Amino acid sequence: MILDYHIHTFRCGHAVGTVAEYVAEARRKGFLEFGFSEHLPLYWIPAEQREPDFALSDEELPIYIAEVQQVRKDNPDLSIKLGIEADFIPGYEQELKQILRLLPLDYVLGSVHFLDSWAFDDPGKIEEYNKYDIHDLYQLYFQYVQLAASSGLFDIISHPDLIKKFGFRPNNSIENLYRQTIEVIKENNLCVDVNAAGWRYPCAELYPSPDFLKLCFEYDIPITLGSDAHKPEQVGEGLDRAIMILKEIGYRQVATFTGRQRFMMELG
Ligand code: ZN
Ligand code: FE
Ligand code: FE
Repeated sequence: MILDYHIHTFRCGHAVGTVAEYVAEARRKGFLEFGFSEHLPLYWIPAEQREPDFALSDEELPIYIAEVQQVRKDNPDLSIKLGIEADFIPGYEQELKQILRLLPLDYVLGSVHFLDSWAFDDPGKIEEYNKYDIHDLYQLYFQYVQLAASSGLFDIISHPDLIKKFGFRPNNSIENLYRQTIEVIKENNLCVDVNAAGWRYPCAELYPSPDFLKLCFEYDIPITLGSDAHKPEQVGEGLDRAIMILKEIGYRQVATFTGRQRFMMELG
């Protein structure tokens, strides 16, 4: 089975293509199962102070859900999932819990995109990296990932080593930091989003790295697959290559979700 659980749409403000256009592209490429994972509104920031092109607005969230439900009805031969990509912000766990509780989701991807108020994956904010010792920055980032994993809010940890996006990497080994993080992911029974978008950025590597994935396999952590498409033509992009890496490591199965329950399937 080859599937794609990480797809955005124009509604987040920094992607293009409608839900229906992504479905048409996924169908053309032969995907039988895929899911949308639009950026949840920036719930911890007052609505009038939010960046307009980071995520759905509060008003668009129900529209997005209705659109995914509509394509599901229009394409009964495909398994189309309703997911969401939610930011993890320490201190706002209860707020997020209340929002997610009310949504008819198949799965929730938990993402660390912000360290305090710094959107460290935003190309417009790269200069901030110069303010940090990169080793310390990695410690801080993975601490957030560990908090996200132990929050109980998520089903899947998105792109677990996103901090490498622009190619800033520490000189010393971070295997212990990986291992610590993977132990927390394991204790909380989460999946890891194997995300091909890393190949589109300066880090030029799968998220997470093969070294990280080898440790995940050692700890028997399930994985999902995602292109993180922000354009219809990116649906499924890089996933063949990701599957080759996964199989080499030893993975034979991929996780799927329905109503936030996990099921395992054979990897394509
Ligand atoms: Zn995005
Ligand atoms: Fe993300
Ligand atoms: Fe994403």
